Parts: sequence; C-alpha cells; structure tokens
Amino acid sequence: MIYLSHRLKEKFKSAKDSGALFFQGESARHTQILEVVGESTYSFDLTLLPSLQHRPETGNANDNPFSKAEPDLTILQTYGNEDEFRLILNKFPVAENHFMMVTKKFRSQDSPLSPSELHASFKILENLRISEEDSRWFAFYNCGPESGASQAHKHVQFLTLPKGHPDFNFLLAQSSEPFIPDQTHEPLQDPNLPYAHFVVPLPESSAVNDELLALVFTSLLQRTLTTLAEEELSNISYNFCLTTSYMMMVPRTKSKFGCTVGINSCGYMGLVLCKNHKIYEEVRKNGIFNILAEIGCPSRYGQVSSEYHY
Ligand code: AMP
Repeated sequence: MIYLSHRLKEKFKSAKDSGALFFQGESARHTQILEVVGESTYSFDLTLLPSLQHRPETGNANDNPFSKAEPDLTILQTYGNEDEFRLILNKFPVAENHFMMVTKKFRSQDSPLSPSELHASFKILENLRISEEDSRWFAFYNCGPESGASQAHKHVQFLTLPKGHPDFNFLLAQSSEPFIPDQTHEPLQDPNLPYAHFVVPLPESSAVNDELLALVFTSLLQRTLTTLAEEELSNISYNFCLTTSYMMMVPRTKSKFGCTVGINSCGYMGLVLCKNHKIYEEVRKNGIFNILAEIGCPSRYGQVSSEYHY
C-alpha cells in the first residue's frame, strides 16, 4: 500500500498507452457553471467527455467485468484485512487515475458498505492523501437501482476533484466540529440545497477507526431510509461519498433526469459528466440544481429524528 500512488499512476499510464482503457482526457471540455441560491454561489464542473460513449450502460449478469482480474487493469491483486478486495483501474475513466476497489467474491451493489469495506476505502484515501499532497481524492459508492450504478458486482470508486473546483460539501462539513449523529444531533444539511443530503464531518485521521466509520455510515443510512420511506419508494437507492474529512449520503428516486441525463454520486460532488453534446445541452438548459433535485428527494433541512424514524 505504501506505493499505491506510484503504482496507480504507472499502471494508468501503461493501460492508456496499450489501449487497455478508453480515455481521451485531452479532448474533455470542462465548463464551470455557477448557480446562485439565496446569497450563496455554488460551482459545478460540467465535463463533456466523448470517450464515455464506450462505457456500458448496464452490466450483464453473464458477463460480469469484475468477476475476474483483467491483468492490464489490475493495480493490486489483493487488498483488505482479509484479502477480500482487488484494486483495479476503471476501464472508462472520467479522469486520470480513476480506479475502483472491487470485492473478489460477488457481493451485491445493492447492499450497504460493510465495516471492512468502509475501513478499506478510508485507508486508501488516507494513503493517497499522505502521498499526494495537492490531490483531493474522494471515494464514491452508487448503491441501488436508481443510484446511477451500472454494474451489479460491488465496487467503490476513487476519483480526484478537478484542480480549483470548490467542494461545497466540504465547506458544509467544515462548519461543525466532528460528531456522531444521534437523536439530538442531526447530520449537517445546507438549507440552500434543493435535495435531501446528509453530511457528517470526520475527526482527524488518527482518530478514525472502524467503529466510528460504521457508526457514522449507519446514522446516514438511517436518515436515508427514513427519507425514502417518506417518499413511499419501494427500492433503496442512494449515493455515498467519502473523503478523509467527511461522509455524505444522498437518497435517490431516479437514476436519470428525463431519458438521457444519468447522474451518479459525482453529480452531488459538483461534477457532471456528459458523454455527448445532446446531454450537455440538456444539462445547460435545465440547470444542475433542478436536475439534482428532480432525481433526489426534497430537502430534509430542519427535520429531526423521531421514534417513528429508522
Ligand atoms: P457504476 O456505473 O457506478 O456501477 O460503475 C461501474 C464502473 O465500471 C463504470 O464507471 C465503468 O466505467 C466501469 N467499467 C465497466 N466495465 C469495466 C471493465 N470491464 N473493467 C473495468 N471497469 C469497467
């Protein structure tokens, strides 16, 4: 693990050079979109990335790409306290060095992250934070049928925020001391954001352990389940994002806005990816907050937990 950053970059370069992955980062068109709510301005990175057209829209149970290791994409054959994971490059990356932690045995992408999956993800982020001072890595997990996930085999993805991109969730997390949510202390919510989202700041990494990660994750999942139940949704879908400074969960109602604009966890980190001009124009026309609100649930700002909640 000491050499993760080095190994990842080396592997990404060779996979790109050999054509083992599809990435045309040079042709990506980034547009900064500012949306104003109340007195606050929020910044989004809208990226047109035609190489994403190659990405399969849905996985296929008979052709599961994560069931076997593809040597050209494999960063670490084995990882985790019980050697239960592999680290692999994303074959259709949305940015340089985009990679994933996949379970070796099949586990469902509809299941919540286990304590060992949370711990392993946090360790990866911590390792990258120490070795790459100027990169801002985050992990994300698209859980459930409406989350924007395309593969059924469990995978947590790792990506960096673009340079200079302000992370509005981080600013929200920074507004409080770290805490573990309970009946009297709700996860943070930005009153300006038009969708339900639950954010909890984490203490410094030396104070983060398996138990804390599991407690915070469970508290976010409880709020998410309550929100989905209130919206009378029969399936459980949410986006989950983790950095070394905070965790966030966003309940989801739809995987797509209209028929074309697919959004996953990255959208709620302010990163909207479009694989063609039509989608790009659709996003520009509708506005990003309108889209995120439509495919999420109404804001729960001010709502406190009660005995009727999960
Ligand atoms: P999600 O859409 O959140 O389920 O993430 C699945 C990811 O797997 C997508 O970002 C795809 O780009 C990626 N992917 C699809 N097929 C492969 C493959 N054969 N090898 C590696 N990554 C893949």
